[in-house]
Formats: sequence, C-alpha cells, structure tokens
Amino acid sequence: MPRQYPIEKVRNIGIIAHIDAGKTTTTERVLFYTGITHKIGDIDEGNTVMDWMEQERERGITITAAAITCFWTPMGLPRTKENEYRFNIIDTPGHIDFTAEVQRSLRVLDGAVVVFDGVAGVEPQSETVWRQADKFKVPRICFINKLDRMGANFEKSLDSIWQKLTKGAVAMQIPIGLEGEHKGVIDLLAMKAIKFEGDFGQTVKEEEIPQDLAAKAKEWRDKMVEKIAGEDEKLTEDFLGGKEIPVEALKKVLRKAVLDYKLVPVFCGSSLKNKGVQPVLDAVVNYLPSPIDLPPVKGTDLKTGQAVERKAEDSEHFSALAFKIASDPYVGALTFFRVYSGTLIKGSYVLNAATGEKERIGRILRMHSSDREEVDELYAGDIAATVGLKNTSTGHTLCDEAHPIVLEKISFPEPVISIKIEPKTKADQEKMGMALKRLSEEDPTFKIKSDMETGETLIAGMGELHLDILVDRMKREFKVEANVGRPQVAYKETINQEAEAEGKYIKQSGGRGQYGHVWIRVNPKKRGEGFEFLNEVTGGSIPQEFIPAVQKGIRESLDKGVVAGYPMVDMSAALYDGSYHEVDSSEIAFKIAGSMALQAACKKAKPVILEPIMKLEVVIPEDFFGDTIGDLSARRGKIEATSDRLSMKVIDAEVPLSEMFGYATVLRSMTEGRGTFTMELR
Ligand code: GDP
Repeated sequence: MPRQYPIEKVRNIGIIAHIDAGKTTTTERVLFYTGITHKIGDIDEGNTVMDWMEQERERGITITAAAITCFWTPMGLPRTKENEYRFNIIDTPGHIDFTAEVQRSLRVLDGAVVVFDGVAGVEPQSETVWRQADKFKVPRICFINKLDRMGANFEKSLDSIWQKLTKGAVAMQIPIGLEGEHKGVIDLLAMKAIKFEGDFGQTVKEEEIPQDLAAKAKEWRDKMVEKIAGEDEKLTEDFLGGKEIPVEALKKVLRKAVLDYKLVPVFCGSSLKNKGVQPVLDAVVNYLPSPIDLPPVKGTDLKTGQAVERKAEDSEHFSALAFKIASDPYVGALTFFRVYSGTLIKGSYVLNAATGEKERIGRILRMHSSDREEVDELYAGDIAATVGLKNTSTGHTLCDEAHPIVLEKISFPEPVISIKIEPKTKADQEKMGMALKRLSEEDPTFKIKSDMETGETLIAGMGELHLDILVDRMKREFKVEANVGRPQVAYKETINQEAEAEGKYIKQSGGRGQYGHVWIRVNPKKRGEGFEFLNEVTGGSIPQEFIPAVQKGIRESLDKGVVAGYPMVDMSAALYDGSYHEVDSSEIAFKIAGSMALQAACKKAKPVILEPIMKLEVVIPEDFFGDTIGDLSARRGKIEATSDRLSMKVIDAEVPLSEMFGYATVLRSMTEGRGTFTMELR
C-alpha cells in the first residue's frame, strides 16, 4: 500500500506540562475531538466525554501509550481524507525528575504543545521542561488552560511566560470571560468570537466579537500583528506604513518564526469545560513542523565511520530510533520507534546498529486511542510500535543492513548512585529479578548488577529520588517487597594508555573443537565519550560473520573492570587481527576470545578507578547567580562556563559527587524553587 498521508501532513507532537496543569485532560479532549473527526457518524450523540473515556479504558488502551496516532481535519474544512492530518502524540512524562524520560520523548517529537495552569501561570517545573525543549530545539505553542477556575488570569499567565520563559510569546487569542463566565475565545487573526457548543464542546461556532470586548480585541490584535510583522522585513514595512496585512501573510511568517524558535503562539481555554482545544489542533497544523520541515537527521556511517545525514524521504535508506520499550497487557513488550528515513516493510530484517544483531520486524502496530492498527509498511517520519524484538533497547538505532548507520545517540546519563536491594521473602526473590529486568528495559538510566561473590543485588540510578520511585513501582506494580540499603557512589573504571593484547580460546582435543583468536588494541577516550568498538580487520584474518561475536564479548566484559570490578568507560577497543579455523571456529569461541583480550589489554593500559566528579548544569534566574556560584565554590566546585539561556543564567561546573548529596533541596531553597540542575558523571 502506498503512503496514505503525504509527509507534510504528519505532525509528531508532545503535550508537555507541569504536573496538574491539565496534560491528561487536554490529551483526552484531543483524542476525543480527533476521534469524532475521523469516524464522523459513529458517535452516539448521547455520550459524554466521560463515557467515551471509560470505554476507551475498558478497551485497554490508556492515553499513556508511548505514542498514539490520531487524525485532525482543520476547522471549517469538509472532513475528507484529503483534508486530514495525521498526528502522532508522543507521551511525555509529567514528572521531570528523570532526564532520560524527558530526553527520549523530546528527541523523537517535532513540536510541542505546552499546557499551563491559567491560575498559577508558569510554575517551576514548567521552566525545567521549557529549557529541555530549548536544548532539543523543539518548536512549540502554548495553551493557557483552566481559565474556568477561580482566580484564572490570562494576562498574568501570559506575563509569566514573558518574564520566565520567552519574550517571543505572542497571544493569538484572548478569552471571552473568565472563571464561571468563561464562554470561549476571540481569535485575533480572524477577529471572530469562537464558541464551543454541544455536550462536550464538539460544535464550534464562529460569531461576531461581543461589543464589550471589541476595543480590547483590537488592542491585542495590534500587539500580535506588530510582533509577527517584526519577524519579516516586508511585513515590518507594511506595518509601519499602516497597511492592513492579510491573515495568510501573518500565518506564513508566524509559521516560519515558530520553526526558527523565535515566536511562540499562545492560545487559551479550559480543557475540562471543553473550550479552546480545537483551535490548538489547528495551530498544530498551522505552526508546528512536519518531519520534512526539520533538518536531516545526523548519524555515523558504520562502514566508513564518517558523519552522514539522512533526509526524511521514503527513498532514503531506512533508519529508525527505538525510543521506548513498554509492556502492553495484550501483546507483551512493545518497542516504539520513529522512522527517520526510508521505508520499513513488515516481515523484513533490520540491523540493530548498537548490538550488531539482526532483528525481524514481525508486526507493525499503530496505536490509536481505541484500537491498534496493524500496518504492512511504514514511511519516513512515521512513529509506530513493533512486537517481539529481542535485543533492542531504548536509544538503539535500527537500520538497513546494507547501509548501516548509528543515529545521533540519545545520550543517557550514566547512573551515579547505587543501593543494595534485598527481597524480603523467598517468593519476593523470584519476582524481584523479573521486575528489575522489566524496569531497567524501560529506563536506560536504571541499571541492575548482581555481585557474584556475595550474591547481593545492586540497583543504580540517577539519584536517591529516582531509585525510591523505582523501588516503589516494584512494590506497586510487581508486588515485590524489598529492603534497601544506603545510597553509594557508583564508581567507574577507565584506562590511561594504549595497549595491545591477544585473546585465544582454543580447545581442539576430543569432541567438538573451539577456536577463537583475536588481537585487540585499547585506547583511552575523553571523559564522557563512552565506549567505541572499531573493526580494523583486513584481509580476512577473521571472517566477517564472527566480528559481532567479538564485539559482544568485549562489551560484556566492560561491565567488570580489571581494578575493582566497576564498569569500564571512556575507551575504545579496536579489533585488528586474529585467526580462525575452518571447522572449529564458532561465535561463542570468538566471544570468549574477545572478552579475554579486553581484560588482558586493560590490565596493561594503566587502569584506574575514576574519581566520581560530576558534570553539573545549574539553571537559575539571574538574581540568584552570586549565591549559587558561592555555594558551588564551597562544595569544591570548579566553574567551567556561565552563559545565558533566554532570561536564565546557566552555570556549568565540575563538582565531586560526595559534595552533592542533598543539593536538590539546597538549590530549591536558595532560589525560591526556580533553580534546576542536571548532573552526570564527568
Ligand atoms: P496533568 O497532571 O497535567 O495530567 O493534569 P490533569 O489533566 O490530570 O488535571 C489535573 C486536575 O486539574 C484534574 O483534577 C483536572 O480535572 C483538572 N483540570 C484539568 N483541566 C482543567 C480545566 O480546564 N479547568 C479546571 N477547572 N480544571 C481542570
């Protein structure tokens, strides 16, 4: 089946918000309105939104699927296939304690709708999410929600966006009434009142602007036009010359300014009272990018080691990124992935560039709010899920075997803290292993280690809170009771000089023989560069088919460093020679040889335990700059750089981890709750 939606009509978006701002309610309304658009006529008029939501839940799909596909026809257009846009809504976490969760979703979405509470305005967590979105260069639009609440204030909320987030925010609407009087919105582009009628606001009506709001609407429209026109030379001239600027011209310039991260259009309403959501969907179409509007994805060609780009085109070689592994009650483990380039056909094999192994794409599923759709093909820009991948984790690249590429990695911070965890009973012991495995598959910053000698299990993560929550999930979702120990610094090991070594696993007496023989060279890399495997075998001294096995052996043996058994990081291993035997060579023999060679080489390469020094990024309002710097110095911190990010100050520093326990609390009280930080092992 050919592509059903041109790529220009695809929007991969996230709805992001401070917890409690109304992300869930807004998402439910979005799915509801897009649902009725898609299957117009199916809907039983007697239903309420709540009933509809109940049914959705009974069917077993919650709106927390990692990605949901839905369809939107812009208001005022006939509901035909030609007019429809396909939205993939990517779930973003409400809690932003775990950078990995946020990063992986921001990495695969193209644009975002940021929801604010119209009473509270910008809250500390909204600032954190906003800055993450800045970092990932995500164009966005804002929705000031909850205007029906007591104390709702559109202008104050908008002002808090200007003060704390961006001067580029531009009001596209003003509300008609607030609190109990909230009736709808005024569209400042069309200069019309928009009302939402029917049991659940599904009927959108355009009316003349009420008399009492006419002057105010005019004033806000002028501000809007000035701001948009300011982004374009020709429009600026027209504006200064007092010429009327056509709506289409304003829309065009605004779209460009949003894609260039200069302007952020602001909409308003109340999701709970079914007001204002549909215009936001139109805004997604009008102002947020399609996959083709973005720069080509970057990666590394695995054959040449060169940096390459892949365009979001169907004719390109296939590349995709797995961004979430989720357990689904009906089909088991689902791997959600985004296709960046090329096409994928059901039943085909793809290469996992991270593991070097092939995976078969048995089924391709698109998750809708009420059902799952099996599809045979996927195209550039699509987001979907597949079942039954064996060794693919979050962040892995899947690609065309003949044109292997590693996409720019989602760089997950390494765990910095570990705790001992002990099941309470024998029954818990059995369940614990499974529970931890599942949780670590979902969250790449959560790792499990068992100490062979003592039989103890250690879990490692990004901080005390992170581990607390995971232990809590283990209790609630998997019913495992466990005792946890005190948090400890998670040490690492690395090497300091180049070394070469041989690994030989040869058994040729009696029975089936084994023959694996490799020579490798290890080299130190800079802090934070991780591990890299290089294949430098020439002239067939080791057949290609055994090379992934060597790589696997090396990778596995990195887990246990040669000094004290801590994981080894920041080094490369190049496989450059070896030998094989026609009959006796096997993958397992080469895997063992690879692992032996790595251990031997590292022993010769001046291995050390890494001082746990943290790379810290602190983001604070300017007023708290001096205090924050002073405090970091007292913690033996080394300030590396300071910079501005919109209205905030960013401090990059290096600080010993042992000085950083409890920093979250200190920073919060020092900055009136507005400072945020991320920290990872240097
Ligand atoms: P989330 O934590 O961001 O997903 O927020 P929810 O959608 O779960 O909403 C948090 C609370 O705010 C719930 O009690 C909602 O019913 C309520 N809420 C959401 N949107 C609105 C709104 O537009 N008006 C009012 N008054 N309450 C709302």
